[in-house]
Amino acid sequence: MIVTRFAPSPTGHLHLGHAFSALYAYESAHRADGAMILRIEDIDQGRCRPEYETAILEDLAWLGIGWREPVRRQSEHFDDYAAALDKLDARGLLYPCFCSRADIRREVADSPRAPHGPDGPLYPGTCRDLSTDKAARRRASGEQFALRLNVGKARGEIEPLSFHDAFRGLVRADPGKFGDIVLARKDTPTSYHLAVTVDDHLQGVTLVTRGEDLFEATHVHRLLQALLGYATPDYAHHRLLTSAEGKRLATRDGATSLRYLRKAGHSAEDVIAMLPPRTA
Ligand code: GLU
Repeated sequence: MIVTRFAPSPTGHLHLGHAFSALYAYESAHRADGAMILRIEDIDQGRCRPEYETAILEDLAWLGIGWREPVRRQSEHFDDYAAALDKLDARGLLYPCFCSRADIRREVADSPRAPHGPDGPLYPGTCRDLSTDKAARRRASGEQFALRLNVGKARGEIEPLSFHDAFRGLVRADPGKFGDIVLARKDTPTSYHLAVTVDDHLQGVTLVTRGEDLFEATHVHRLLQALLGYATPDYAHHRLLTSAEGKRLATRDGATSLRYLRKAGHSAEDVIAMLPPRTA
């Protein structure tokens, strides 16, 4: 059975881009007699608000989009992410990183040929070779740290990887694209990459539907799946909606928010009719 997902972060109200993404997931599941699950991605507790979560559930119901219960709220599952981290740590694939953003910027500025990835310069690896003793001393002294994946070492342990995307076909994964990614942040004991990979697995997702802005992230998720012994779902990285000026829709442009459109007198059918077709 196909299980898809819609995984919004409750940092604002849903807009037309979210409606497109949610309908994409919902219709892909229901065309195949499957189910869509809903996940609230709220690990970033400083930016997420419970009132936005309530609004998300209301807006989806208003659009006529149903999901298979229960709703999973990431902030209630830090234990699951810790268990995955333990598994990776036991294989020596993680290291503590004490660097601040400023440290990293400085280091990158000093090496003009620093490699770049989809999000900018890659982490230069400053803490990768800290001795165990030194790292333990810094941890014991209360210094804050993130946990990074030693991607070079991790890649060496696995076969070449690939995944299937509905729009691009078979894709050879390049898990080194983002360098040594953070799997547990200083301010929260997980990261987007880890939480989403663990959750898609635990929620039995077989088709990950999401915007094409996250296509590159899938290369890393594929590596995490291999390391954690998870099955690989299929993917559909769909187009992103843009404004008349060609800009990506953003939460701060209130005029495309579903609440605004509803208040302005549009019905759910009107809103759905504003969206492009949801076919691959
Ligand atoms: N929470 C992410 C967002 O709202 C989506 C993550 C995903 O679909 O993997 O953009």
